[in-house]
Amino acid sequence: GSNIGSQKERVVTEEEWLQKWEVGNIGFHKEQRHPLLQKYLDVLLNGKSGLRIFFPLCGKAVEMKWLADMGHNVVGVEVSEQALKDFFSEHSLPYCEEPVPEISGGKMFQSTSGNISLYCCSIYDLSSSIVGKFDGVWDRGALVAVNPCDRQRYASLMINLMEKNSSYLLVTVSYDPNKHKGPPFYVPESEIKSLFGSCCEIQCLEKVDDFSEKHKQWGLDYFLEVLYMLKFVA
Ligand code: SAH
Repeated sequence: GSNIGSQKERVVTEEEWLQKWEVGNIGFHKEQRHPLLQKYLDVLLNGKSGLRIFFPLCGKAVEMKWLADMGHNVVGVEVSEQALKDFFSEHSLPYCEEPVPEISGGKMFQSTSGNISLYCCSIYDLSSSIVGKFDGVWDRGALVAVNPCDRQRYASLMINLMEKNSSYLLVTVSYDPNKHKGPPFYVPESEIKSLFGSCCEIQCLEKVDDFSEKHKQWGLDYFLEVLYMLKFVA
């Protein structure tokens, strides 16, 4: 169904996210590359090299290193400075840190090699005049982590950050939203259509069963990952 129930009103503050990182409550982080990105990498890259790829709400996603090693330029944004520092240190990547003049309190952490640039600020502080536009997006644990009341704002920003004809791989999750408060939040397909349908061709590429012990403990009896490909046409 498309009813997201009480999740509509739920708000997780930046402070709460920072807290999760501080105490290591980061069950969303995966040590292995996401199987759906491995499987659909060609769809994202379209055979092109040297792309600018955006990782919204990036955490310390290991796929950033993987894509950078392939020769792409990776840009991420994340509120937790700890997450970004952990990313560089866990991959033994030297980096430098600089202020972002356009964003009050904003910082940018960049690998010394220059191909990974991670902004430490809220995604809502970004604009294409600060970060430019992107050829591709990997959105896993991002739209589903955005507060439901902020989805429209998030989608408009993403649309602004995308080059024409660029590809956006979006992973959402599907489960009974009356049984777990989230995040990750349940995002119905109807909502993907209303958020992105005016600017994108939307294709559902795959639904995979991702049910595990963790989800059982959340009180759920099914949990799916749903992969969409958004192609920016407008
Ligand atoms: N995409 C990553 C992280 C998912 S968890 C992965 O797949 O592992 C969501 C992340 O978004 C958290 O690390 C949280 O700190 C960050 N976050 C939450 N709200 C944010 C915001 N408004 N701007 C930037 N980052 C945010």
